[in-house]
Amino acid sequence: MRQSNINTRVGSNIGGKSSRSGELLAQKLLAEGIKNQQVLQAIARSPRHIFVPEILAHKAYDNTALPIGQGQTISQPYIVAKMSELLLADGVPDSILEIGTGSGYQTSILAQLSAKVFTVERIKSLQWQAKRRLRTMDLHNVAMKHGDGWQGWHSKSPFQAIIVTAAPKEVPAALLAQLADGGRLIIPVGEQNQVLKLITRHGDEYKEQQIEAVRFVPLVPGALG
Ligand code: SAH
Repeated sequence: MRQSNINTRVGSNIGGKSSRSGELLAQKLLAEGIKNQQVLQAIARSPRHIFVPEILAHKAYDNTALPIGQGQTISQPYIVAKMSELLLADGVPDSILEIGTGSGYQTSILAQLSAKVFTVERIKSLQWQAKRRLRTMDLHNVAMKHGDGWQGWHSKSPFQAIIVTAAPKEVPAALLAQLADGGRLIIPVGEQNQVLKLITRHGDEYKEQQIEAVRFVPLVPGALG
C-alpha cells in the first residue's frame, strides 16, 4: 500500500528536473551498503537540488553534507538513508517524530516511507522554506512545529519511531518518554566525538546500540523567533 503512495505522490521529475541524478545517488548509496529498497527508491525520486541553496545546486546529488544557511547543514545522503533504514528495520512505523527539520530533505524521505511525519525545528525561516519544498513535492502528510526539540512533541506521543538530526550531549529524557513500547529512537550523541545510537524501548527498559561515528550540528536548547 505504501508502495502505491510513493508512486502516486512522487512523480519522476519533481522540481522540474529529471530524476536521473537521484537515481545515480541511490546507486552510490547501494554501493555504500544501504539495502532498504523503499529508502533507495525515495532517494532516487527526491529532488535534493530544491533543498540546497541555488548556488550549490550543482553539488546537490553528491554524497556530502552542504550548508543551508543559519549555520546549519543538510545531512549527507548516506546518513539520511542509513538513519531511515534503521528506523524501518522492524517494519514501517505509522508515525515518525523528527527533531531538526533543517532543509526538510530528511523529512521528505520519511514522508514517502511512513503515513505521518511530525517534525520540530527551532529556526523559523528554515521551517518555512522546508514547508514550501514539501508542498512542491506534493507531500501533505507532514506536521511541523516551531519549538525546542529537546521537549519532543508531547501531545502527539507516543511515537513508534523518533529520529534526531542534530547532536545533544546526552539523550533528551522527553524523547525517551515519548517513545512507544517497542519503538526505535535513532540519535547522534556527543560533542567533538559523536556516535550514532539506536535505542529500542522494551517496557521500561531501553536497549542501546552504537551504529557508527558521525558529525552533526549540535542540538541547541530553546526555540528562536
Ligand atoms: N535533517 C536536516 C538536518 C538539518 S541540521 C536536513 O537534512 O536538512 C539540524 C537541524 O536541527 C538544524 O536545522 C537546527 O536548527 C535544528 N535544531 C538544532 N537544535 C534544535 C532544537 N533544540 N530543536 C529543534 N531543532 C533544532
